[in-house]
Amino acid sequence: MEDVDCVIVGAGISGLITARRLADAGVSAMVFDKGRSVGGRLATRRIGEARLDHGAQFMTARSESFATQLEDWQQRGLADIWCHGFESDDGHPRWIGMNGMNSLAKDLAEGIDVRTDHRVFSTTWDRGKWSVTCDDAQTVTASTLVLTAPIPQSFSFVFETVETLPRELWSADHDRTIALLAALDGPSALTGSGARHEPSDDIAFVVDHAVKGISPIPAITMNTSPEWSDLFWDAPNDEIEAALSELISPFLGSAHVVEQQVKKWRFATPRATWSTPCWSDNDFQLVVAGDAFGGPRVEGAFLSGVAAAETITGWCTQRR
Ligand SMILES: Cc1cc2nc3c(=O)[nH]c(=O)nc-3n(C[C@H](O)[C@H](O)[C@H](O)COP(=O)(O)OP(=O)(O)OC[C@H]3O[C@@H](n4cnc5c(N)ncnc54)[C@H](O)[C@@H]3O)c2cc1C
Repeated sequence: MEDVDCVIVGAGISGLITARRLADAGVSAMVFDKGRSVGGRLATRRIGEARLDHGAQFMTARSESFATQLEDWQQRGLADIWCHGFESDDGHPRWIGMNGMNSLAKDLAEGIDVRTDHRVFSTTWDRGKWSVTCDDAQTVTASTLVLTAPIPQSFSFVFETVETLPRELWSADHDRTIALLAALDGPSALTGSGARHEPSDDIAFVVDHAVKGISPIPAITMNTSPEWSDLFWDAPNDEIEAALSELISPFLGSAHVVEQQVKKWRFATPRATWSTPCWSDNDFQLVVAGDAFGGPRVEGAFLSGVAAAETITGWCTQRR
């Protein structure tokens, strides 16, 4: 059985930055993710030649810490400023991953022990050690456990063990998002920045990735609103696709959809933000982090992961 200082559940940006900062501090960490790739909601997909982000579309930086990360990515050609506003220039930079948002997660994962395709199935706490078991029956032990999956997904691992978990934390719910990804045979009607960000009853955000600068051919991601997504969540796929085709038509101009895919995000956006950047319990050596703590954005998730790492390095210093 492998033993590490820290097991991290979730290789989204919060889990990855926690692992990176722990590695910098000499704390060994192993990260598990149920997905085929790292990144979680920093997600990029290919449809033929097209490249489309289908989770987070851009990032903003209000904190020095995240601004420093963005500048590092920019210097290495991995991220850049897309625009300073969608309908008009508000002077506030929107950043993107130059090879898609997922490539930034891959960059953070470099040199970290990340095991993808590993769904954490259960955790147990016994005499100061966590045992973490995955669905392939692999078990790893660790002094410290970090949970960065969306809270409803983290809940089952610890609710029977850790009686100090605040009840309000676990009742926090998430908005859902149904997204349409469509590769086109010509330029879309989305000009300027290539995005429409005027939330309506049906649509939250629409972007053409060729105009955004990450796809060699026109390709649209359309994120529907939480209300629309709730309405269609359990509908048959052909009904969802027909309704999405109608919604996307004003953005196509004279182009046609050559191939499309539907992506459903069950835990797209936490409805509330917890009052501290992560939740921790020293007795159980447990940290819970993610965008439900730092705020429902890439930057919020990043800052929560940084706070998780600082909490753990603080515990390590106390122990020495
Ligand atoms: C459609 C959409 C559009 C968005 N647009 C923007 C935007 O434009 N700008 C912005 O700043 N933010 C945006 N966001 C929000 C942003 O993507 C998130 O806030 C951020 O990526 C969350 O990171 P995280 O690490 O907290 O969680 P996640 O990225 O969700 O990472 C959690 C990880 O845990 C893994 N996991 C779950 N359960 C298990 C398990 N049992 N075992 C192992 N692994 C598990 C998941 O596979 C996932 O990879 C958007 C989100 C969505 C869904």
